[in-house]
Amino acid sequence: MKKAIFPGSFDPITNGHFDIIKRGISLFDEVIVAIGVNAEKKYMFTLEDRKRFIEESFKDEPKVKVITYTGLTIDLCKKEKAQFILRGLRNPADFEFEKAIAHTNRVLSKIETVFLLTAASTSYISSSIVRDVLRNGGDITKLVPEAVLKKG
Ligand code: ADP
Repeated sequence: MKKAIFPGSFDPITNGHFDIIKRGISLFDEVIVAIGVNAEKKYMFTLEDRKRFIEESFKDEPKVKVITYTGLTIDLCKKEKAQFILRGLRNPADFEFEKAIAHTNRVLSKIETVFLLTAASTSYISSSIVRDVLRNGGDITKLVPEAVLKKG
């Protein structure tokens, strides 16, 4: 059984994340979306909301599981018996950042990181832009899955 962990903050999930997860399930038997909990980070959405948005977005997809975690992603992989980490690449900055993490993870473990290039139509979207639009009263309808819009 090929399992991949898709780690991130998902504050909130965007159409870009959605695209990567959808394509991930065509490659793996299970995609575990893992929401990292970092005590030093300030989030716009609560952990419960972030988890619910993803669960609702994939409620008809049994190959997607959503969990939360603290600590190293490779330790989570071992715990969940996942052989792969799934990540999306939007631009050269993502690549440089991800390259260092993937190399480090390979030194520390046998876990392979699989990168998917983002769909051109969603490659400009980031959770931080979505939060910015929201803070300033803008419309995020075209940037996020429907589940996120149901909030409050
Ligand atoms: P992090 O806190 O790790 O940056 P994010 O929730 O922002 O977490 O991103 C998690 C993963 O989703 C990363 O691999 C990131 O490259 C990918 N990702 C973010 N935005 C997009 C997008 N618009 N299209 C495809 N992948 C994306």
